[in-house]
Amino acid sequence: NYMAENIDTKTETLYFANKALTEARDAALEASLAKSQFLANMSHEIRTPLNVILGMGELLAETQLTPEQEKHVRISAAAGENLLNLINDILDLSKVEAGQLPLERTRFSLPEVIEKSCELLLIKSQVKSIRLTQSIAPGTPVNLIGDPVRLRQVIINLLDNAVKFTDTGEVALEIRQTGTREDGLVELLFTVRDTGIGIPQDMLEHIFERFTQVDSSNTRRYGGTGLGLAISRHLTELMGGRIWVESTVEKGSSFYFTVLFGPGDSQCAATSLESG
Ligand code: ADP
Repeated sequence: NYMAENIDTKTETLYFANKALTEARDAALEASLAKSQFLANMSHEIRTPLNVILGMGELLAETQLTPEQEKHVRISAAAGENLLNLINDILDLSKVEAGQLPLERTRFSLPEVIEKSCELLLIKSQVKSIRLTQSIAPGTPVNLIGDPVRLRQVIINLLDNAVKFTDTGEVALEIRQTGTREDGLVELLFTVRDTGIGIPQDMLEHIFERFTQVDSSNTRRYGGTGLGLAISRHLTELMGGRIWVESTVEKGSSFYFTVLFGPGDSQCAATSLESG
């Protein structure tokens, strides 16, 4: 009898412990969603007046200014740009974490997306005398169905980092097909290779976490928010792929990511589409 009573008490304790655990988990999930929603709303509210400030700064820059005043306007504009980037990153991250970032499904041309992404980094790389090259392997389907805007965002994040953390040498973007699934979706592998400062082994798995930077002085020295890779990881996963990195300190880094696309038509890159 004593034994039976003891087991009953244990079962009861276990039951209540389990119940408390489930409730705590639900509450945490709810709090996390509420936080994401709050961040999304806040970011939106901040972006509107910030755009006004930036717009007025642009108007001011077009007026007659002394060199001193011009410098002040330029510094203020750069700070505003940084703030806008940070707000946009926080908005994207909170949306994607709350599961509220819808993906487009449109027909697009892969070479066009690549061209547009590289264009954005051209000046930055030329200023640093870094060679920026791109290639699409022969046989890669070039007309696809997916979200070109989000794909471009991931590519730009990686290219921007590669150029930022490289002083001499080359940044190369390579694309090839790695598979076709039974349902017809094609898997493409994107590689962004650089000859930059590299990343220490013990940091490799952490840099995809939000606000993680290898060196806490990075933000001051290189600019950046520490959110780009966290967003890129979410986006690639949303697009049915994954993202990873290989790196050697002082030699360079290679970032890889895969994405699943619908086939737009049967047109493929004939010869290697290369430019740089
Ligand atoms: P941000 O670049 O804004 O700091 P990211 O999330 O894009 O944030 O990157 C996080 C960190 O990972 C960077 O601060 C840097 O320390 C490291 N990192 C990312 N890409 C590279 C790269 N190509 N070479 C060296 N370090 C990199």
